[in-house]
Amino acid sequence: AAKAAGKRQWRRFLPELRDNMTERHDLRARLDRAIADEEFSLLYQPVVDMTAGQVVGFEALARWPHTRRGMIPPLQFIALAEETGQITPLGAWVLRNAAADIARLQSRTPRPVPPYVSVNVSARQWRDSNFLNEVRTSLDTAGLRPDSLQLELTESVLMRPDAHIDALLRTLKDLGVRIAVDDFGTGFSSLRYLREFPIDVLKIDKTFIDDIPEDPRQVALVEGIVHLADTLGLQVIAEGIEEQSQRELLAGIGCRFGQGYLFAPPMNLEESEIVLRRTESETGEQGT
Ligand code: C2E
Ligand code: MG
Ligand code: MG
Ligand code: MG
Repeated sequence: AAKAAGKRQWRRFLPELRDNMTERHDLRARLDRAIADEEFSLLYQPVVDMTAGQVVGFEALARWPHTRRGMIPPLQFIALAEETGQITPLGAWVLRNAAADIARLQSRTPRPVPPYVSVNVSARQWRDSNFLNEVRTSLDTAGLRPDSLQLELTESVLMRPDAHIDALLRTLKDLGVRIAVDDFGTGFSSLRYLREFPIDVLKIDKTFIDDIPEDPRQVALVEGIVHLADTLGLQVIAEGIEEQSQRELLAGIGCRFGQGYLFAPPMNLEESEIVLRRTESETGEQGT
């Protein structure tokens, strides 16, 4: 009886499973074509200096305006691309285009300190032997200064001592490229890597920001991260700031940089330029 029941269950789930597999197979094939045809676009979310009220940089966020099913969220297609290895050509496309876009933005909106672009780089790309070449080529082709590029990695990349990653990060640092740890606090790595690897920036994950200022334990955690970063000489960016009360608390504990819907959502390049010009005129010609 148990066997029969099991079989019935299996029958019930099989079509669903098969659909799922066809769908993934289908999505993978479409992703291949989308990469070849460069069907992606990039949005940019401002990173704000909360003390000066100025935009200091933009995070590039990939979008796939897939026609039949509408917009596929990056969490879906990036995860698939990581699994299949398609992230290598896709990531190269992102890097090239983000560098070119920001170089154009900089030339159209000259400032004493030009805004940087921050690019998400997945674990697989960090292990790819051609990655450093892609960074160099993207900078050269765009005519972008290396210190206008920030590369984001997640803690998983730094989980264990790794000679390749260490050498790569040092080469990038020597070039002038900045390295940020994304989603900081959500990984399982030890904090030792902050001492061992040449990291410049910690991006505190949104999940830590969500419950401030109400939850005193979360406040204590964020405060601890900010102090740790200060001590180690790292910059801190708080991710996913949606409320004024969060901004005020962060300012109070000395967190200088932030990103979130409170300031601006991810926007196309034209909108980014408008926001950049607006914050420029609001703060006068500070620094010039
Ligand atoms: P992430 O790098 O941590 O990016 C931040 C995400 O939070 C973005 O989601 C952004 O739109 C969203 N966000 C920003 N401010 C707020 C806010 O105030 N509230 C809320 N609820 N959300 C906010 P998005 O664009 O959907 O990207 C999701 C993730 O996909 C990114 O997380 C990143 O891990 C990955 N991703 C996106 N583009 C790329 C890419 O070009 N390459 C790689 N490897 N990963 C990418
Ligand atoms: Mg990111
Ligand atoms: Mg993040
Ligand atoms: Mg993330």
